[in-house]
Amino acid sequence: MIERRHPLRSPTPGTTRELISLHFGPTDAGRKVLLQGSLHADEVPGLLVAHHLRRRLAELEAQGALRGEIVLVPFANPVGLSQWVLQAHEGRFDLASGENFNRLYADLAPRAAELLAARLAPGAAVDVAAARAALREACAGLQVDTELQSLRRTLLGLAVDAEVVLDLHCDNEAVLHLYTLPALWPDVEPLARLTGSRAVLLADVSGDEPFDEACSGVWPRLAAALSQRLGRTVELPHACVAVTVELRGERDVTHEFAAADAEALLAYLRFRGVIAGGPPPLPALVCEATPLAGSIPVLAPHGGVLVHARPVGATVRRGELVAEIVDPVGGGVTRLESPTDGVLYARESRRFVPAGTRVVKVAGREAVRSGKLLSD
Ligand SMILES: [Zn+2]
Repeated sequence: MIERRHPLRSPTPGTTRELISLHFGPTDAGRKVLLQGSLHADEVPGLLVAHHLRRRLAELEAQGALRGEIVLVPFANPVGLSQWVLQAHEGRFDLASGENFNRLYADLAPRAAELLAARLAPGAAVDVAAARAALREACAGLQVDTELQSLRRTLLGLAVDAEVVLDLHCDNEAVLHLYTLPALWPDVEPLARLTGSRAVLLADVSGDEPFDEACSGVWPRLAAALSQRLGRTVELPHACVAVTVELRGERDVTHEFAAADAEALLAYLRFRGVIAGGPPPLPALVCEATPLAGSIPVLAPHGGVLVHARPVGATVRRGELVAEIVDPVGGGVTRLESPTDGVLYARESRRFVPAGTRVVKVAGREAVRSGKLLSD
């Protein structure tokens, strides 16, 4: 294992942070995987999974079982890890800018297309290795002015030439679920089986450029940008399977979950041949993939005490009671009903909520929303 330290841009004199990446396996095999924990720094399950992955990857490396480079970034967000305000951890938004740590990743396609077009012989096909080199170069050339921007550039630089990117997050209270591109579902289906995912939410564009889409969505964008630049159709595969893995709820931090989740992620890498040992048996699929635009949040119409009526993972019907908001002053009780048939895959963890809070989220089959599809 090689440990690499990546200094971030210093925000003020005398203050520097660094991102640490752990590199396992051969770097000359032409294969690379990126696993990172807690880009939203207060989402702790991924940190414990990273702990188990670190130990297991060291064992697999010692056995000579790694067929490519596996990069583990246990703490993807040293800025957010250090943000404590009045004894509360704020790991989702950068306090300096107000920006969400998992948004606003750069689109590398225009610059990478420019670099590739200049090097391509007339009529020649584009190979994936050359495209990856151009993406690396485009990322390295990104202008950064702030610590947050340098964190985003560093994370993207570690991931953009990987064939698999697994970004480990969690929700407030939730069953395990995944986000990815619709075109990647056939590649992600074995991961859904191995992790026992209870929902898979598909979108081409979720809004505001989250990390996984910057890594996977860049491939079709690069093909389009190159085609336009060269005036001919350029074919490129979906060369990066990037998935946001939501490891249940924020308090689901146990060695039992984390060890099993780490093994499931490693089994997926065996399935893909990046780890030796042959493909593992695939468990049954326990959910279907549904459009992210069909996942409907139920909002609190007013503030009050939140009383949930259904557990996470419940299959609910349209009109079924999912929660109540209680006003202890006025005596009112507002019933909140599921807006669709589907799986109640996540719910709010606080028990007193202001108006507008997303109280539960139900994954339905029909795409009914548009615009920005993710929570703030
Ligand atoms: Zn998150």
